[in-house]
Amino acid sequence: MLSESWERLWKSEQEFFDSGQGELRHGTSFVAVSSIAEQYYCEYKVENGFALGEIPTETKESGTALHDELMPTERISKEEFVKLVSKKEPTLAILGVWGSVGGLKVVGVPDHVIWSGGNPMWVVELKTTKGDPNPLWEDQENQVRVYGLLLDRMGFDCSKTRLAVVRLKSDELGQEEKKEWILRVSDALIGDRIQELEMKYQGRMKAHLLEHDVERAEKAVSSKAGYWLKEREPVSSTSVGKCRACEYNSVCPKSLYKPT
Ligand code: SF4
Repeated sequence: MLSESWERLWKSEQEFFDSGQGELRHGTSFVAVSSIAEQYYCEYKVENGFALGEIPTETKESGTALHDELMPTERISKEEFVKLVSKKEPTLAILGVWGSVGGLKVVGVPDHVIWSGGNPMWVVELKTTKGDPNPLWEDQENQVRVYGLLLDRMGFDCSKTRLAVVRLKSDELGQEEKKEWILRVSDALIGDRIQELEMKYQGRMKAHLLEHDVERAEKAVSSKAGYWLKEREPVSSTSVGKCRACEYNSVCPKSLYKPT
């Protein structure tokens, strides 16, 4: 991007965030990409989050701590960001993404972006699990797709952008490996050697690679927008397994599983 384009981008960002009027469900102005992803798990969970507040769980807390350990970040200025990501050789940096999709103002922060020449090469979500990392769940796929879409809407050239959801068994890495994890994943994605990394961590890590697809990402948002636009009530899960794993199961009026 040219320097005027960056200036335009920061100006549009300010206007976007100034435009919120609390017109959406629950009086919100902006919808987080992670909330849209959660709708794919169970929309009622999002509703419970607003009605009952967040319920902390050990899994969530240890997952967040591990996530921060695997992806340490350091705040830099806009100028430093532009200088860094404009380099031709690949660089690693994240930024808040935003844009209007399906009647919603959508915002979020991707886990990880690999840049080259001012444009995103890879948008990466890192998901830790205690179970099998091989399946790719709908919520995880749509989350990374929407991040790709928002970068596109912000004016970046995403014609070569690819998406990755990297799932990792949470207790499988040693201290040193944790420190280097994001660099190893980035090197493997840039050098097209992700399969080698998967072989090395067989059964413990899976990189799900996806093509950036504007239409699919738009559909992923618009099919969930009716809830935020107050056009319909939230839909609850039909899976007993999901309710069993859900932290709201003892208080949720729609729960299919009641803990004893
Ligand atoms: S208990 Fe079941 S229906 Fe209720 S929020 Fe959780 S997953 Fe959804």
